[in-house]
Amino acid sequence: MAKIDEKGIIEFNLEDFDAAWNNAPKLDNKPENEYRLCFICKFHMLKDNLMKGDLPWNIEIIDLKNFSLDKNNFVAIHNNCKEIRPKQNCSKLLLKIKSLRWMYDESFYNK
Ligand SMILES: [Zn+2]
Repeated sequence: MAKIDEKGIIEFNLEDFDAAWNNAPKLDNKPENEYRLCFICKFHMLKDNLMKGDLPWNIEIIDLKNFSLDKNNFVAIHNNCKEIRPKQNCSKLLLKIKSLRWMYDESFYNK
């Protein structure tokens, strides 16, 4: 479980990263353990790019208004998308995005 250290920095563990990844929307035509959708920019994320590589992803807190370190409050998004999240509480937005179907555009990326 994540904890906050004396400087106010949150320390996440592997379980937290797994939970955040599993809360991110899936892509219909890609394995869910390798690809997920960033619900902010709608571009895909690669699991291997956890805090590294091109378009690294990291844990974001879904609801900052009702802040908690509950695993259900974590979602994987791109590092660069943290600054452009539209709201303090993204719970509804995330649910909406997850209710839609998303596909990885093979023809676009395999040119
Ligand atoms: Zn993004």
